[in-house]
Amino acid sequence: MSTLRFHAIKESLAYKPVTIEEKERRSDLFGKHVFNENTMRQYLTKDAFKGVMNAVQYGKKIDRSIADQVASSMKDWALSKGVTHYTHWFQPLTGATAEKHDAFFETIGNGMAIEKFGGSQLVQQEPDASSFPSGGIRNTFEARGYTAWDPTSPAFIYGTTLCIPTIFVAYTGEALDYKTPLLRALHAVDDAATAICKYFDKNVKKVSSSLGWEQEYFLIDKMLAASRPDISLTGRTLLGHSPAKGQQLDDHYFGAIPGRALNFMRELETECMLLGIPVKTRHNEVAPNQFELAPIYEEANLAVDHNSLLMDIMGRVASRHNFKVLLHEKPFEGINGSGKHNNWSLSTDTGINLLGPGKTPMSNLQFLTFFINTIKAVHEHEALLRAAIASASNDHRLGANEAPPAIISVFIGEQLTKVLEELEGVTKGKLSPQEKTELKLNVVGKIPDVLLDNTDRNRTSPFAFTGNKFEFRAVGSTANCGNPMTILNTIVAKQLKDFKIEVDKLIDKKDLKKDEAIFNVLREYIKSTKNILFEGNGYGKEWEEEAKKRGLSNNKTTPEALKAKVSKETIALFEEMNVMSKIEAEARYEIEVEAYIMHIQIESRVLGDIARNHIVPTAVKYQNILIENVRGLKEIFDKKFNSVSKEQINLIEEISSHIEGINVNVTKMINERKKANAIEDIEKKSLAYCNNVKPLFDDIRYHCDKLELLVDDEIWPLTKYRELLFTR
Ligand code: ADP
Ligand code: MG
Repeated sequence: MSTLRFHAIKESLAYKPVTIEEKERRSDLFGKHVFNENTMRQYLTKDAFKGVMNAVQYGKKIDRSIADQVASSMKDWALSKGVTHYTHWFQPLTGATAEKHDAFFETIGNGMAIEKFGGSQLVQQEPDASSFPSGGIRNTFEARGYTAWDPTSPAFIYGTTLCIPTIFVAYTGEALDYKTPLLRALHAVDDAATAICKYFDKNVKKVSSSLGWEQEYFLIDKMLAASRPDISLTGRTLLGHSPAKGQQLDDHYFGAIPGRALNFMRELETECMLLGIPVKTRHNEVAPNQFELAPIYEEANLAVDHNSLLMDIMGRVASRHNFKVLLHEKPFEGINGSGKHNNWSLSTDTGINLLGPGKTPMSNLQFLTFFINTIKAVHEHEALLRAAIASASNDHRLGANEAPPAIISVFIGEQLTKVLEELEGVTKGKLSPQEKTELKLNVVGKIPDVLLDNTDRNRTSPFAFTGNKFEFRAVGSTANCGNPMTILNTIVAKQLKDFKIEVDKLIDKKDLKKDEAIFNVLREYIKSTKNILFEGNGYGKEWEEEAKKRGLSNNKTTPEALKAKVSKETIALFEEMNVMSKIEAEARYEIEVEAYIMHIQIESRVLGDIARNHIVPTAVKYQNILIENVRGLKEIFDKKFNSVSKEQINLIEEISSHIEGINVNVTKMINERKKANAIEDIEKKSLAYCNNVKPLFDDIRYHCDKLELLVDDEIWPLTKYRELLFTR
């Protein structure tokens, strides 16, 4: 075993797990480090409290004197908890979170100092953010960006820093982060959905979008991970032969959580509790060392913040337990990858889940309205929804027989399919009294019973209805949920807006009753959206063929998929819904395409380096041992030489052919990279990386992995899959 490998494994085995004891109840810990409603009640004056709550619930502006009061109370609260610094916490388009700490500490002359934090520091900051991606919006020399307080996501304490969730925008007003368009989309869906709710209940004033994410991840020993340059630099393995035992036995899924991982989870969950992240579920996933963590769902903006925060904390806590968290969608070939299901719904300020069937026929008609409109939204914008989850790392997962395909479709289950079939038969125009009664009793009235036994859960669908919510399963494990949530809420908002126009028209022009008009529009939607519904096996080849016939897009790679983000229709949609301007949409597209290019470029360099500087020299070393051996055989066996040395000579030849395979392909890859780098147009460049550079990864890997099987284990330089996945 190579020294590096040996030491990594030795250290890993010698590691003594830190046992985490939980002394306090989780419910007591929950939200202790959050400036939440409860804390605000304690610390704020009545006026200030009301000001913040109005901003949170109805988007009202917070005036300056209130901001001063809030800041001062926030500071008092934070100081009481040993906090020294504050930061505006935001989510630039790098995908990570960003923070720049400032101390409360301030000198006031005469050698004296105080702790200070005023409204102006709370409300707005100007980080020197010229190095964050802006897609050309913010020329470094012209306009700067600033961060602005988002009162809908409460401030929290992490370590000894008060973190204030903020949006990040250019001085010219364009969004430079994930949160700004998300907030706009949530606003759009609130407006559109509230208007529809008023058909059913005049008291509804607000509709919120909810999100419950499920985060999958791998835990790998820190030393073992560090021994692999590919994991260190790209978050995944670029080569490595499958171990003899992988996940065939299905012995990891829902199995007993290994002690060391459990200790990590406990500490992570404690941190989450303090930060008000309501984590609830933890379990082993399908692959060895793969796990999942899921919270109770929350309002979407908060849930997005919480997921970003979680991904950050996971890394820090893992490090304390000598683990490295791999959030990558596909860290190991031949082993299941990770996703992040986004469970999504809409609910009213009167406490109704709009995607949950109700108790009366009327509330069920409301449910069907939102249910069918969501299907219609996905039908109209399937390519955009696919684009919302496109990334270099998620490309490994989509369509790879373990995750939803790159084709977007909606699964609704047998029972609801029947309900839609019945509704499709509704008479055009006015309904007879008998028909109304029939609908009430036998179709709309029966939905709650129907859903209770809607247990058929098709795991292969990218967008599935699961009883009281839709589950968007194609989201990647590294994704910032802000991106898919912005797009999903925008397309639903647009659809609801159009629906209302159609219904109102029927009421006005055709003199239909409200529910008649709704039935009429829904019927047409059911007829026109059949193409997006699919109940079969999403992993099958047949579905790909069928989807093609149906005219659904099947964009397997990120460069192909991303184009939908800047199509004429998409830009019109974003502009109409006030979610993004053309400039913002195009800038984002540019950033994402560039991120794709960078990802592939880095992977390509790392792979070339490992193949040439680690694998080839090792193979040559082993080959020399064989050659020495053959020489010896020649000395001892004279006549019998040919027969006794046959296998060794074969082996020498085989090694040579793989060395050649590596060198030829690495050279080819470098040339393709050079050609790609010379391309100005970023779309064409990304396609060159995708179609000319990336495919060579497989060829290079093939030869490296073959050598792993041939070369003496003693000298193999890279920690092997079995060691990464099964050293405990
Ligand atoms: P699974 O998908 O693993 O079978 P569940 O169906 O129990 O699990 O729920 C998965 C996630 O769905 C949980 O994180 C939960 O918080 C979330 N969820 C439940 N109801 C809603 C809702 N109305 N809106 C958004 N998310 C929800
Ligand atoms: Mg799920």
